[in-house]
Parts: sequence; C-alpha cells; structure tokens
Amino acid sequence: MSPEPELDPMGLPVEVRHIQPYEATKTYLCPGCNRDIRPGEGHLVAVPIDEPDLRRHWHRGCWSNRANRRPGRLR
Ligand SMILES: [Zn+2]
Repeated sequence: MSPEPELDPMGLPVEVRHIQPYEATKTYLCPGCNRDIRPGEGHLVAVPIDEPDLRRHWHRGCWSNRANRRPGRLR
C-alpha cells in the first residue's frame, strides 16, 4: 500500500510494477534465476528511481527471494 520504493539486490531504490499475464508480450531474462520469463507469464518490473532505463523484469518468486540470495548484502 505504501508508495515508498523498495530496494533491488544492488541496494538501489526501485519502483515495482506488476505485469499482468496479458501485458507480458515479450520474453525477458530474469536476473534472479537467469531463466526466461515467457510471454503471457505474470511477473514484475523493478524500475530504478534514478535510472528508469535500467529496469529489469523478475519472476515474482525471484523478486521475493532476492534478499536471501546475497547474505549480508542488504543488512
Ligand atoms: Zn526468476
């Protein structure tokens, strides 16, 4: 509910946008698992507040688990 930015695995503040299955029309590479996000697959986009061009597409599960992949990195 809060508009406050989340942090990506690099510690950058990002705006998270949820992509519905019908909005997913291309294949993207998820940086969390290095696997494809296929067209028609609901996922999310992390858009850096300062550099919107560097947005990245993530599987929802990979985004949720991002903090667990780099122990000690975010806290
Ligand atoms: Zn993934």
